Amino acid sequence: MTPTINADRLWQSIMDIARIGPTPEGGSNRMALTPEDAAARALFLEWCKALGLAFTQDAIGNMFLRRDGTDPAAHAVAFGSHLDTVPTGGRFDGVFGVLAGLEVMRTLHEAGIRTRAPLELVNWTNEEGSRFRPAMMGSRVHAGDMSLEAALAITDDHGVSVAQALRDSGQAGGLTPAPRGWAWWLEAHIEQGPVMEASNSDIGIVTGTMHARYFQLTVTGEPSHVGPTAMDRRRDSLAATAEVILAVERIAHEAEPRGRASATWIENFPNARGNVANITRLHCDVRHEVAARAIEMEAALRTALDAIAGRRQVRIEVDLYATFGPVLFDQTLCNVLRRKAEDRQLSVRDMTAAAGHDSVLVAKLCPSAMLFVPSVDGITHNPKEYSTPEQLARGAQVLLDAIVELAG
Ligand SMILES: [Zn+2]
Repeated sequence: MTPTINADRLWQSIMDIARIGPTPEGGSNRMALTPEDAAARALFLEWCKALGLAFTQDAIGNMFLRRDGTDPAAHAVAFGSHLDTVPTGGRFDGVFGVLAGLEVMRTLHEAGIRTRAPLELVNWTNEEGSRFRPAMMGSRVHAGDMSLEAALAITDDHGVSVAQALRDSGQAGGLTPAPRGWAWWLEAHIEQGPVMEASNSDIGIVTGTMHARYFQLTVTGEPSHVGPTAMDRRRDSLAATAEVILAVERIAHEAEPRGRASATWIENFPNARGNVANITRLHCDVRHEVAARAIEMEAALRTALDAIAGRRQVRIEVDLYATFGPVLFDQTLCNVLRRKAEDRQLSVRDMTAAAGHDSVLVAKLCPSAMLFVPSVDGITHNPKEYSTPEQLARGAQVLLDAIVELAG
């Protein structure tokens, strides 16, 4: 029998990280490579060093914490998630996966157990993509899905580049991002949806993810005066964008329950009172469990854009700037997780992840899988995001049990 994780210690660590970048409503705001993100990383690193884990960092800021095995030739079992949050973040998204991994390391350390294969705990850079798009940037560069140079050149809304933010936050590591020869990859995460709670499940086995397509739309009209310009002579990019936002929402409603779509971010020029707007940028995405249906959703979006552009005499450019999935996670690994959960008398159900996760990228490199724990009311990216200490402990225990089996 593998040792039991320390549920109180896991909970305490999550609460300690949550206090960094606190929001008034009780959540966390640690966007990637901000001073808050750097402070959370520093505390995490301090905990890892106390366990004697060897720390390396690559040039996109991904953190790798290694625990040697007894067989130097064995490929590592790797696991982890991300410590960055959205601006309205909760305390658990990503953080749980990193700190459940830390709890695995702590439990093994305390029990004096050395596995045959080495273990690597990872904190990926900029999973959320709130500050720098696209999301899952660190794992994307690691997996070769995006070049390091391209990622470093990306800027936030204030013109700060990823390269600059890495330097300013002290997170530009020396390693060239590259696959590390892992035998297996596991990520524990909160569900961020209501399905597990409704079905009374303890552990979700994530068998795959949706296919998502992310767009930047640029709507171009003509600047004019809000007073003298007759309504039928206006080419108002902001009003056109309002129609686009509603079209995205309509496409999402039509795709439920297996598809979703959202408009999330807007930038408007000249954004001046007294002026009819002439350039508006919008970010939106479409996603579906079936890749072909996501592509149909994109086609529906493009049809709607053509109609809006024609009617309102604006130009709409579409830049498909990122995609992820669909990914089918490794069957063998899913079975290990399922068996380990059942061995602990936990109820299990299969899940499809609707959100993007770093595991989507790692799955290109080695057999990968994810496990979910329930989210109370399915609330996420919100200060009210919550999972109970018991729910989190069950997830961390199954993670430990699986890692011990895989690493021997
Ligand atoms: Zn996450």
